[in-house]
Amino acid sequence: MKLSDHFDLSEFEHSPTAIRLGIDNRTPDSLIPNLRRLCEQVLEPLRQHFNVAVSINSGYRCPALNRAVGGAVRSYHLQGRAADIPFRSDWYAYLRDHLPHTELLNEGTWIHIAL
Ligand SMILES: [Zn+2]
Repeated sequence: MKLSDHFDLSEFEHSPTAIRLGIDNRTPDSLIPNLRRLCEQVLEPLRQHFNVAVSINSGYRCPALNRAVGGAVRSYHLQGRAADIPFRSDWYAYLRDHLPHTELLNEGTWIHIAL
């Protein structure tokens, strides 16, 4: 299922940890609008500005997956409102200065962004 022009739901659900542990990490229908909003308001504008593909390291996490990866109890990943993407300092600065976000974290090798 397409979420926006360049992002597909499967990218946000894919998780090697979920596969390894047999966790069903499909997104509830009620949370799809949150993922769409994240794509349309943050990830598509980022992609457009730098004209480069943005890969999703982690998107939606069901409660079992969030526990398995040691995510925060109230992680925005549980609500489909967060994505982890590869770290680039120019991406980080652009997200910080020009795009809407509720959380923006420099995690060293990745950026956590939530809306
Ligand atoms: Zn994250």
